[in-house]
Amino acid sequence: MTASPVYLAPCETYDIPALTAFFREAFAALSLPEDFFCGKQVLFKPNLVLAKRPDQGATTHPAVISALADVVFSMGAESVTLADSPGGPYSAAALSHVYKVCGMDTVDPRVRLNDDFGFGNVTMHGEKLRNARLLSVYQKADVVVDLCKMKSHSLTGMSCAVKNLFGLIPGLEKFEMHSAFPALPDFSEMLCDLGMYVTADKPFLAVCDAILSMEGNGPTHGTPKMTGQMLVSRDPFALDIVAEHMMRRDGETLYLNAAAARSRIPRDWHEIPLLGTAEPPTFGFIRPDADSGSFLKNLSGFMGGRFAKAFEPKPMIIRNKCVGCGKCAASCPQRTIEMVKRGGKTRPKIHRDACIKCYCCQELCPIGAVGIRQNPIIRLFH
Ligand code: SF4
Ligand code: SF4
Repeated sequence: MTASPVYLAPCETYDIPALTAFFREAFAALSLPEDFFCGKQVLFKPNLVLAKRPDQGATTHPAVISALADVVFSMGAESVTLADSPGGPYSAAALSHVYKVCGMDTVDPRVRLNDDFGFGNVTMHGEKLRNARLLSVYQKADVVVDLCKMKSHSLTGMSCAVKNLFGLIPGLEKFEMHSAFPALPDFSEMLCDLGMYVTADKPFLAVCDAILSMEGNGPTHGTPKMTGQMLVSRDPFALDIVAEHMMRRDGETLYLNAAAARSRIPRDWHEIPLLGTAEPPTFGFIRPDADSGSFLKNLSGFMGGRFAKAFEPKPMIIRNKCVGCGKCAASCPQRTIEMVKRGGKTRPKIHRDACIKCYCCQELCPIGAVGIRQNPIIRLFH
């Protein structure tokens, strides 16, 4: 199995000329064909998971987008469209707010902010995903550039290039995916299907904005972490194997295990050809509260899944923060959050029996009012 190379280099600031120089060096090192973008309609797929400012580390920085656009247009691209479907509704109203807060209205004016909210069916023949609906803007593109962030993630452990592709599935359809694949191993196989489909379907490039990353309760409510790195690869799986090592999570990410089991990639970062830097720097990323780590996995293996379930972290509403907006209830794929009126206020109540621990409620609460309750024994080992 020959793995695609990953170009990795330090990049300390969001200085556009420095980033432009970085992309030129990366493309030369990766021997990106000169006609890769020439005459093409290019889709930039950033991570715009929630309306967050660029300094909060959750979303792709506008300077990275502007620098890349400059290089892509200089290579002859016909057009660049920027599109993502965050967790809420996939609509003009929702996206215009996200674009504004995330600074997308400041990017190079040649980049068109997507205003086509259509989507259509594709046949995938994946192991879990036989069919899926994907954004129309993806279907129309000639080339896809996946512009992800390096973040910890409450459900999958990490979010990087492969997980970012989940935003090609329109708005509320993503919740259907969580319901269809409630167990993390199945959800991870689904992500693997999606990544394999997209990379086989179109010419593809993955870029990771790991200048300001996110640790802790990512992908939206963690802590920004300065890591000062940029990564580029033709293969999102190869990029994520290197990123996983940089986050000191080697071997833990189930969608990468799935890809390795299908012989899509080698599982060890040493087997990914590295360009630009011989030895990736590593950073101790604080784990999400929902990540029970190896203790619970070992317990599950030793005592059986049902017993271990009692120890699993659970979402909880932080009452003194919650403003009762109802977005957690609207984002719950299991419809297990009920908005209840009490004492003149309407607040969410989680009915735990149907909860699948997808943590969409935590991810999409705009003010971080969904926390994670850990079993005290697990907390000791966290
Ligand atoms: S999304 Fe957050 S603020 Fe809104 S109701 Fe749910 S917990 Fe409260
Ligand atoms: S309550 Fe939260 S964690 Fe549980 S299923 Fe609903 S969105 Fe997912």
